[in-house]
Amino acid sequence: MNVPFLDLAAQQAEIVDEVLPVWRSQLGSAGFIGGAEVDAFEREYAEYIGVGHVIGVSNGTDALELAYRAVGVRAGDEVIMPANTFIATAEAASRIGAVPVFVDVDDANLLMDPDAVEAAITARTRAIVPVHLFGQTAPVPRLAAIAERHGLVLIEDAAQAQGASSEAGRAGALGRISATSFYPGKNLGAAGDAGAVMTDDAETAALIRNLAAHGSSVKYVHDNIGMNARLDAVQAAVLRAKLRRLDDWNAARRAAAVRYAALLDGVAGVRLPAPVPGNLDVWHLYVVRVEERDRVMAGMTAAGIGVGIHYPTVVPLTEAYAGLGHRAGEFPVAEAAAARILSLPMFPHLTAIQQQAVADALRDAVGRSLPETVGAPAQGSMV
Ligand SMILES: *Cc1c(COP(=O)(O)O)cnc(C)c1O
Repeated sequence: MNVPFLDLAAQQAEIVDEVLPVWRSQLGSAGFIGGAEVDAFEREYAEYIGVGHVIGVSNGTDALELAYRAVGVRAGDEVIMPANTFIATAEAASRIGAVPVFVDVDDANLLMDPDAVEAAITARTRAIVPVHLFGQTAPVPRLAAIAERHGLVLIEDAAQAQGASSEAGRAGALGRISATSFYPGKNLGAAGDAGAVMTDDAETAALIRNLAAHGSSVKYVHDNIGMNARLDAVQAAVLRAKLRRLDDWNAARRAAAVRYAALLDGVAGVRLPAPVPGNLDVWHLYVVRVEERDRVMAGMTAAGIGVGIHYPTVVPLTEAYAGLGHRAGEFPVAEAAAARILSLPMFPHLTAIQQQAVADALRDAVGRSLPETVGAPAQGSMV
């Protein structure tokens, strides 16, 4: 049985009847950028996340850049972030001349390690950027306390965590400002590129709107050198329809995670992802860790199971960041994970039968790549 890594067709099928009439009327009125549909989505998402202001923008990378700029990150400032994130977290800082400073993560959940953050702070540090990786909220209260103590800004990268929360509150509403992506494969995905910036502060929100529209709040009056990073109305229509289903879809992901845990319980050589105590995880990705990952991955692919690696190289060791001079071994936990992680199929409409096929293929692939145990007691001889 073939199982795709990600199947979004079922999501579109659920919303198509709601979206098409809106798109039809948008084509008729030629209202493509901003407008009532975007305003409505921003209001609805603000209410959902529990923040004062949502600014819909062009994509998650622009959202991060706008968030950095709006809280005063400038060229030469250092921005602390985890080594194992999608490169956009760093790229957005580099684009404005700031310097990404990478730190290692905790082994349990691969989330930013507060002790490593504290150790990386210098006189040039301006911001701390936790990434809610794989749908699990990072330890924001501890990070916020560190930020407070050192006069730094906490900026959340919430791109993988729409709907996730921790005891401290909902991901995206925990920092001074947060950025998210609605790339189609995210838990809340558009039909193309989209993103948002979230903040409780009205002045910061106004500045983001200004920067995202060519540094202009009044037509042809330009107060800042901004960018073009606005949200399309056609995307807002899709996002509104999907937002209404997000909690159900996240619940389906959680149910799938529970099923994987049961199917893979006790399989030698497979380390399962652990729920974060106190968190409501939304399983953007379901990432196991295995030895000889590339061999296991090839076995899965040969069996017709779609798998991925998020991400094969930690950002500081990518060619793009070679200029920072990092060496292998500086981020032991993140690097060890990068060699072992394997993302299994995970999406709201994943069926139990598909998961059984994934589990069978994984058990097979791992079994074949485990070394022969020489001199080990025969099975069943141990108490
Ligand atoms: C997807 C993602 C982004 C970037 O979003 P785009 O919309 O693709 O620009 C940033 N950070 C993380 C952690 C992501 O997963």
